[in-house]
Amino acid sequence: MLPGMVYLVGAGPGDPELLTLRAAKLLNEAEVIVYDHLVSAPILEMGNSGAQRIYAGKERGNHTLVQSDLNQLLVRLAREGKRVIRLKGGDPFIFGRGGEEVEALAAAGIAFEVVPGITAACGVAAYAGIPLTHRDHANSCLFVAGHLKDGSIDLDWDFLARPGRTLVVYMGLLGLSTLCGKLVAHGVPETTPAAIIQHGTTSSQKTVAGTLATLPQLAQSARLAPPTLIIIGDVVRLHAQLDWYESAAVGAGAD
Ligand code: SAH
Repeated sequence: MLPGMVYLVGAGPGDPELLTLRAAKLLNEAEVIVYDHLVSAPILEMGNSGAQRIYAGKERGNHTLVQSDLNQLLVRLAREGKRVIRLKGGDPFIFGRGGEEVEALAAAGIAFEVVPGITAACGVAAYAGIPLTHRDHANSCLFVAGHLKDGSIDLDWDFLARPGRTLVVYMGLLGLSTLCGKLVAHGVPETTPAAIIQHGTTSSQKTVAGTLATLPQLAQSARLAPPTLIIIGDVVRLHAQLDWYESAAVGAGAD
């Protein structure tokens, strides 16, 4: 029996054309595809039609497989000699727990390869017309996780509040008003531009833009559904001028 192998593959933020060539090739040759809920349906359809597909879950509050079981599943499939594609949204090493999965593989002596993907921050910002850095607006950019734990968000607020940076917040929808309030409390002007983007890079992409003071209310009225990404900082101002994707979609719908 040939030794099994696990490919930890980033599927990008949603648009199938944002897959890497490596990801597309591996999907085509896959025997087993273990995917999570962020992987869009058109990407899953690109997988080898004969491949076994296993849903690993991970929506908020619906962890179909707990992480340790998932790690063991990957190890078991590889020991059966399978070529396993572990397909994750975005990039596997950005807030995807891909690190934990390859640690488990390494500990079990299973061969693996990591295929990067376009992380939500890069893909979604591009499709929203928001350059994450710009010489006139921001000289650094931070990716942070904004999920609520016991009603609060565990971040170094003084560090985040320094001027000249763009903040990109993953998993921040539920904690949006806490997030904006904390930044203002730590000295960020409440007029700082901020946006939340739903389903970036897909046909249901929707950007809601405002300021730290107005965004929580605007987002609530827009009834956004996850996944959403929050971008905070002066660069968000550029969305009004540089939006090329949503404005084209509206134009196309009008014909
Ligand atoms: N590994 C992924 C991130 C996993 S964490 C990556 O690199 O992109 C899941 C979070 O990613 C979501 O809660 C959301 O904040 C963000 N996200 C992923 N895809 C997105 C999309 N298409 N639009 C908006 N946000 C997205």
